[in-house]
Amino acid sequence: MVEKILLNRITDNAIAGSGVELFMLRLDLLHPEISGNKWYKLKYNLEEARKQNKNTLLTFGGAFSNHIAATAAAGKENNFNTIGIIRGEELADESNATLSRAKQNGMKLVFVSREDYRKRFREDFITELKNKYSDPYIIPEGGSNLLAVKGCAEIISDVTDSFDFVCCAVGTGATLAGLSASLSKKQQAIGFSVLANAEFLNDNVGDFIKEFSGNEIPNWKIIHNYHFGGYAHKTKALIDFIQQFEMENNISLEPIYTGKMMYGIYDLIQSGYFTRGEKIIAVHTGGLQGKKS
Ligand SMILES: *Cc1c(COP(=O)(O)O)cnc(C)c1O
Repeated sequence: MVEKILLNRITDNAIAGSGVELFMLRLDLLHPEISGNKWYKLKYNLEEARKQNKNTLLTFGGAFSNHIAATAAAGKENNFNTIGIIRGEELADESNATLSRAKQNGMKLVFVSREDYRKRFREDFITELKNKYSDPYIIPEGGSNLLAVKGCAEIISDVTDSFDFVCCAVGTGATLAGLSASLSKKQQAIGFSVLANAEFLNDNVGDFIKEFSGNEIPNWKIIHNYHFGGYAHKTKALIDFIQQFEMENNISLEPIYTGKMMYGIYDLIQSGYFTRGEKIIAVHTGGLQGKKS
C-alpha cells in the first residue's frame, strides 16, 4: 500500500557549507488523510482489530489531534466505526477543521471534561468505555502502543541509502522507539521533544524499545531544548524559521511537531553537533491537517 516514499535533499543557505547532508523523508505525502507516522502507528492496530473481529475503534485525543484525524479516516477506509473521546467540554461545538472532518469521516465524537480525560489510562475508565460502547478495539492516545512501535519500525525500511542519523519529533515516543529498534549498528536516532519538562519521555521510549525488541538499544536520545515552551506553544522565532524553511524548500511544516524538529536540527547543524560528511534523515511525520485548525 505504501508506494515509494520520497526522500528530499535539503540544501538551503542556512546549512550549506556545514558539510552535513540533510534529507527529509516525506511521510506527509503517504496518504491524504492518514498522515505521516500515524499511518504506521495504525497499521498493525487495524490488523489486530480485524483479527479480534471488532467493528469499532475507540481512541482519545485533543480537539486538534492528528491521531483523531487519522483514526477517523482509517476507520472509514477500512470499514470500522470510530469513536473519539475528545478532551475538553468547552470545545463541544465541533467547529474546528480537525473535528468536523473527523465527523464527516463518520467518527462519533464524545466530549469529556478534562478531569474525565485524565482517566484515559485507568483500567476502570477503559472498562466503563468498553461496556458503554459494545466492546470496541481501544487505541491509546496518540495511537501509541506496542503495535504502533512495530509499525514505526517499518518507517525507514524503504530507505535504501545509507545514513548516520534519523530524526523525528517526539510526542509520546512510540515513533522514536520504532525508528531506534530498526536501525543498523552504527546508526543513531535523535528525537526532539515537543513537550516541556518531559524527561519522562526517556523512560517511555526505553520501555517501548525494551518491550518491543527484548533488549535495550543505546542508539537513541531525546533532545529537550526545542519545545518552545511546551506542547502547542510557539514563538516568533519558530514561526519565522518555518516560513523561511517553507519558502526555501517548498516543504510545509507545522509548529507543533515538524517545525520544532527542523528548528532543532538546523540549530544543531549550525552549532557543529554533527561531523562533516554525516548524513541525516529527518522524518516528516505529517500533521499538516492541524494547520487548518
Ligand atoms: C503524533 C505526531 C508525532 C509524535 O509521535 P509520537 O509517536 O507520539 O512521539 C510527531 N509528529 C507528528 C506530525 C504527529 O502527528
